Amino acid sequence: MHKMIELMYPFNGLEPYYSEETLRIHYEKLYKGYVDNYNRIQTKLENARKNNEYDNIKCLEKDLSFQGSGVILHELFFNNINIPIPSSPSDELMERIIKDFGSFENFKKQFAEAAKVVEASGWCLLVWANNFNKLEVLQCEKHQNLTLWGCIQLLVIDMWEHSYFLQYKSNRQEYINAWWNIVNWNIVNKRYDTLKKCKKIVS
Ligand code: MN
Repeated sequence: MHKMIELMYPFNGLEPYYSEETLRIHYEKLYKGYVDNYNRIQTKLENARKNNEYDNIKCLEKDLSFQGSGVILHELFFNNINIPIPSSPSDELMERIIKDFGSFENFKKQFAEAAKVVEASGWCLLVWANNFNKLEVLQCEKHQNLTLWGCIQLLVIDMWEHSYFLQYKSNRQEYINAWWNIVNWNIVNKRYDTLKKCKKIVS
């Protein structure tokens, strides 16, 4: 069971920038809802595995992504803010921001502009794009786009048609069955060993 994080400040601690009423509703109702739903889905997934009953799996996976990402982003959001005492990027982070955005002002401008035009409900994030070795600003619609922020990939199967159609036509099951035979678990193991050695990133 995932437990709600505790806030590092009192409910009125962000005034006047973020009102007590807004924070209370956001934390006690909305964030709590995501945590409760995430835990509820975990129970349903456990039951599905136990009963070998996967009729509802598409719906459950979608909900896992939505609710789980809602939990992760809310925890980041609540930990990303604090009582109004001045703080700034470390020298190291600032150096990186200047390298990747040109200046701190450029970064703030891009971040704010991107945040302003997020379509419907969503987020704006500063992220470290590990594969490209650089900082990026990203928008996010809803919470997820079917991922869980912060996950490190271990094993992946390509389910685009180009990956199987020529050989398996529309028979995805057959493709998946066959694919299990070519999985390189040595690489998966290596990736898992490496990530276990990493310290948990401060959220
Ligand atoms: Mn929210």
